[in-house]
Amino acid sequence: SPPILFNSVIPMVNKLQDIFAQLGSNSTIELPQVAVVGSQSSGKSSVLEALVGRDFLPRGSDICTRRPLVLQLLQTKRKPDGTAGEEYGEFLHLKNQKFYDFEQIRKEIQAETDREAGANKGVSDRQIRLKIYSPNVLDITLVDLPGITKVPVGDQPSDIEARIRTMIISYIKHESCLILAVTPANADLANSDALQIAGICDPDGYRTIGVITKLDIMDRGTDASKFLLGKVIPLRLGYVGVVNRSQQDIMNNRSIKDALAYEDKFFRSQPVYSGLADRCGVPQLAKKLNQILVKHIKTVLPGLKSRISSALIAVAKEHASYGEITESKAGQGALLLNILTKYAEAFSSMVEGKNEAMSTS
Ligand code: GDP
Ligand code: MG
Repeated sequence: SPPILFNSVIPMVNKLQDIFAQLGSNSTIELPQVAVVGSQSSGKSSVLEALVGRDFLPRGSDICTRRPLVLQLLQTKRKPDGTAGEEYGEFLHLKNQKFYDFEQIRKEIQAETDREAGANKGVSDRQIRLKIYSPNVLDITLVDLPGITKVPVGDQPSDIEARIRTMIISYIKHESCLILAVTPANADLANSDALQIAGICDPDGYRTIGVITKLDIMDRGTDASKFLLGKVIPLRLGYVGVVNRSQQDIMNNRSIKDALAYEDKFFRSQPVYSGLADRCGVPQLAKKLNQILVKHIKTVLPGLKSRISSALIAVAKEHASYGEITESKAGQGALLLNILTKYAEAFSSMVEGKNEAMSTS
């Protein structure tokens, strides 16, 4: 089955949410946004789609992503009768209309792009906001952005490159934004637009993951191993090489599942990548993202604990001022704090110790 992004993180976040729900608060942890950047047709939309495991984004050899798409994933809970939650999409501009057919979601993204940016390759910085409700996701926001393009075509203004750069930077400048810097392997890797623009906003590389796409269509006799090893442009969080669907695959309606099987076969058949298995494939990219999110959660846990502590103190004071002590409430709070503390400890040792437990497979 497709690698469900955040597989390993979902149970942890659910547990935290349960703890907070019992305390009567629903705000738990804010997870970072994830944005894809790179040149046009580098494979950004393809990477996002493969990570989510559903077909719903416009992709193609031409300029397809012409407005920022802010994709909010929201977890639907199991129903009280035990059946799984529903899976559907909902656009901000079409309130109260549920899309159960993901092909229709793609069509609506295209139609809404045309409504704002015209049908002739125009680009707009007005967002399209789409919520995907699913039992298999974590509450996180992914942003699909138009690619960097140099030569204006169609209705594009002469300063198209500068405009797109400004648009991309307005998303990735935020410290809480994880950057997937997408570079196609059949272009000059050392001159990557993606790494260049990511480097402007994240010069020390604390939140940039390098993604090399199109490993299947490199020139004969060349390979991306040096790049994947960070020997060309070093990157703190490293690189992952992927093989997504080609234009022909899209025309043939090849499914994500088949594409992942093909990718796996591709890497197994190339001796040069056999020693780099941890840097190859969409499942590895999902795993890397999971690990980064787990580290993030670990970093914010102490803050969560102190928030609970102060909430408890506030409750105690309030009760004292009424001259009564509601044992049950305070006792319940202390118990939950205790659970959270234990949970945080187990969580930390999991992060530091066996990273295998974080595997998505
Ligand atoms: P974007 O403009 O960066 O969002 O790129 P898209 O995801 O729309 O992909 C652009 C084109 O490249 C499409 O025709 C894809 O089918 C193709 N493509 C993307 N990734 C790969 C890959 O890994 N291998 C091959 N052969 N084609 C790819
Ligand atoms: Mg795109």
